[in-house]
Amino acid sequence: MEGKAGMQKNNFQNRTNAEQEERIEQLLQMLTLEEKISMIHGMGVFRTAPVERLGIPSLRMSDGPMGVRQEFLDDDINHPVGYSDDFVSYSLSNSALAATWNTALAYECGRILGEEARGRGKDVILGPGINIKRDPLCGRNFEYMSEDPYLTETLTVPFIKGVQECDVAACVKHFAVNGQETDRFCVDTRVEQRTLREIYFPGFEAAVKKAGTLTLMNAYNRLNGTHCSENKKLLNDILRKEWGYDGVVISDWDSIHTTKGAGEAAIDVEMGCRTDFDEYYFANPLLEAVKKGEVDEEAVNAKVRNVLRLMYRLRMLGEEAPDRKQGCYNTLEHQQGILKAAREAIVLLKNEDKVLPITGERLKPVWKKRAKGEDAVLTAPVKKRIAVIGHNGEHNHAGGGGSAEIKALYEISPLLGLKKALGGNVDIVYEQGYYIPGDKDVNQVNWAEPCKERLIMGKETKVTLKVQEERREIEEQRRIYRERACKLAKTADEVIFIGGLNHDYDTEGRDRSDMKLPYGQDELIEELLAIKPDTVVVMMAGASVEMPWVHKVKALLWCYYSGMAAGDALAEIILGQVNPSGRLPETFPVSYQDTPAGRNGQFGREGEIVLEEGIFVGYRHYEKEKIQPAFAFGHGLSYTEFTMEKLRVWQQNNVSEALAEDAPLVVAELTIKNTGNTAGAEVVQCYVSDKESQAIRPLKELKAYQKVFLEPGEEKQIRLPFTYRAFAYYGEQEQDWVLEPGSFELHIGNSSADCTLHARVEIV
Ligand code: BGC
Repeated sequence: MEGKAGMQKNNFQNRTNAEQEERIEQLLQMLTLEEKISMIHGMGVFRTAPVERLGIPSLRMSDGPMGVRQEFLDDDINHPVGYSDDFVSYSLSNSALAATWNTALAYECGRILGEEARGRGKDVILGPGINIKRDPLCGRNFEYMSEDPYLTETLTVPFIKGVQECDVAACVKHFAVNGQETDRFCVDTRVEQRTLREIYFPGFEAAVKKAGTLTLMNAYNRLNGTHCSENKKLLNDILRKEWGYDGVVISDWDSIHTTKGAGEAAIDVEMGCRTDFDEYYFANPLLEAVKKGEVDEEAVNAKVRNVLRLMYRLRMLGEEAPDRKQGCYNTLEHQQGILKAAREAIVLLKNEDKVLPITGERLKPVWKKRAKGEDAVLTAPVKKRIAVIGHNGEHNHAGGGGSAEIKALYEISPLLGLKKALGGNVDIVYEQGYYIPGDKDVNQVNWAEPCKERLIMGKETKVTLKVQEERREIEEQRRIYRERACKLAKTADEVIFIGGLNHDYDTEGRDRSDMKLPYGQDELIEELLAIKPDTVVVMMAGASVEMPWVHKVKALLWCYYSGMAAGDALAEIILGQVNPSGRLPETFPVSYQDTPAGRNGQFGREGEIVLEEGIFVGYRHYEKEKIQPAFAFGHGLSYTEFTMEKLRVWQQNNVSEALAEDAPLVVAELTIKNTGNTAGAEVVQCYVSDKESQAIRPLKELKAYQKVFLEPGEEKQIRLPFTYRAFAYYGEQEQDWVLEPGSFELHIGNSSADCTLHARVEIV
């Protein structure tokens, strides 16, 4: 997993902590209170102030998870500067990365992001976002990985390591339980301890303890009554004391609300969008509070210590600074790395009658049949006609979504990808298919403005006469677009529909109001399927949508936002040049009514939400309630087939060894074989269940997985290790992890709904 960059050790990290801390103390002694204060709040919308007298630089930050965001002036976060030198590689959204189920790719994507950030002169990259995808309607789901804490944790750790190999700090966000955008600055999210520990914290805990994340961002919301930015239980007790975190906590932009509360909490740097930088809570107000004795100066010192420690670790300070890695951006290697990851992020959800891939004769020009007796003079053969229908077939997504927007060096749309791959012997014809009111070029989208479709067609609007008229107009346009698309479909040999959501819906600052496909897509898809039952449907979105036509469609592909080469990757999969190997990192329910919040109403409300479902998030919920989802967590097909057999399970270490060493407590071994004719990859997934427990436990939980690449006919023996945590639960009374000895069951297969191997293990 270690890349080239990983082999060169950062010498500073080899120094003894004592030596490092001594240097920090020396600097601290030399700083005045005013200088210290200047180091812990924004002096630009993405930087802190330097202390030039002592050679302490600014901390330079940038969003975000899919690439390094474009440049902004210090005092304007709403309008990018528009330089020509801040185009970057546009990488996978975290939702797409999670669909790869590939930890090595997570490391690679992290390293690419780190190199680009350093290349752009940044110190901190504000990602990865790892909040649990609790509800399909959360606007920022596309930025997050999964509904499952174990999948999230195991991808987060290598990603952060990859970033930080490049002398750039990752900033894992948003701590914690930032699960909705509605009322995001204030909403109080009420959650039980056990649920926090088992579902919402593991990604962050691993980011701190296993990946050594150098920075972390708090969430906007309140957690159990207190804003996360000044939540001492969260920051001081759990993050610092329990997990031993000595990195920097950066406030989400404008998430601090009081000088004393946050001043005394273990949060270090206040950032914001406001430009009255001297009036930030951690600026003049904190200076005053310290002078008046309302906040102890030692609280400020603690924050500055953390900032200095970060600067040493990044080789921004000290004699090693000249050797700090320089980074690079827009390299061919980055572009190829992103394409490689994008190929693995596409999920084949259905493929009846082997409609996919489209290959061979289906693409070859043919001679027209001649009537009997007609002259057999050879005329030019007729090319096959592929109809690409749907706005996402031609649309670019990089520039949308809120703070995750990217100024991509390029972005290959599916239409471009298909045309590049097929060349001149096939006719590819495009129709937008569904009408989008007020459709703008993606670079002109202002994510803070509500989208026109939602305003006019959504529930938000008061239905005035004007609105009725606008709705009628939209319906009329839709009919015209649909008719054009259907007309084209009738003339085509192959029809590929490419739709889903876009960053009008997958966006920061607002949630979706329902799980339906926008822009009248359902109707269009039904009509296309009636004309051509073999229509390939490609959905592109950051979280699940209702697909009422799903039982009719034969070939269905799912793409999250997969970066600059998404169109190439999709074309390669459709045309069988690449075998799909993505797996769903979340359950796709049939309808919103099936979700926890669809039942308990605890999502998207202002003021307070209570996570009543507790630990039963995602498949844990659907399995408990015996609800059949549209597609199960972990599901994904391939163009080949695999078998798994010869499962053996044993306890490897005793519990105290496993606790002390983080060594595996249990190991499972099995053989996996590719029984088809195509090379491909299977994701072996292992779920643990504890049927006899004092505590209520989910039916099963993902606790190990491995992506295995196999040539046709090839078989491999693999081993999956399980730590003690795989079998433990968090005891509310014990306030600790509890491992009950006894028998556990392991279920192994290729999705949460399809486990073919089962074994029992006795833990003593
Ligand atoms: C978002 C963060 C982002 C920050 C800076 C906030 O609104 O919640 O994720 O890093 O802005 O752009």
